[in-house]
Amino acid sequence: MAGENNNETDSPGNLEQVRAELAAAAREAGRDPGSVTLVAVSKTHSSAAIVPVLAAGQRVFGENRVQEAEEKWPQLKRDYNDVRLHLIGPLQSNKVRQAVALFDVIETVDRPKLARALARIMEETGTRPDCMIQINTGEEAQKAGIKPLEADDFIALCRDQLKLPVRGLMCIPPVDEEPSMHFALLRQIAERNGLAELSMGMSADYPTAVRFGATHVRVGTAIFGSRAVTS
Ligand SMILES: *Cc1c(COP(=O)(O)O)cnc(C)c1O
Repeated sequence: MAGENNNETDSPGNLEQVRAELAAAAREAGRDPGSVTLVAVSKTHSSAAIVPVLAAGQRVFGENRVQEAEEKWPQLKRDYNDVRLHLIGPLQSNKVRQAVALFDVIETVDRPKLARALARIMEETGTRPDCMIQINTGEEAQKAGIKPLEADDFIALCRDQLKLPVRGLMCIPPVDEEPSMHFALLRQIAERNGLAELSMGMSADYPTAVRFGATHVRVGTAIFGSRAVTS
């Protein structure tokens, strides 16, 4: 059952501590703490675990599965109508319509077929969630994302040809590598393409990501505790 690890469902987990650490990391890096958005990753956690985090003022959340998000967020968004929901997991072409309707940001634009489907549905519905392009900075075979060498062409396709509202880039570094070089590479690709937003850094490495210029950090475990299901 989702959220079973969260024993105290009236508690916002470690939200305050993460906020404080994030602000400290920003100040140490000489950055305005307001320039980094905390995306609270609520995947696998129940609405009962999410509500206290909303009540504590958190408004930006990340989910990795369209179907799971559809089960939780329409009601939560009615109760907290200024929520911004980010899709941070792979998006199948046949779920694009649902994703465009529910998410405010799609962080995982990772292939031409998906980019074309997004452009078509956005055109058809007039709903245009912000987009980020996922870069496979570690060039891992099993991981989604555009290879660094193909990034510039793909960004041009999405932004210039398909007119997607591309705001920035996201990456998930290989688990067994020092993340800094991946964060630096993501930033370099964003800068040379004039993209302002960088979604990088998770529970284990978000202070490092902030040093390397993250504008969005995606933090799950450090806020909500460990997940019953890994994904
Ligand atoms: C689950 C997930 C996170 C959060 O990971 P934690 O280690 O729990 O902070 C961040 N980004 C993506 C893409 C995820 O799937």
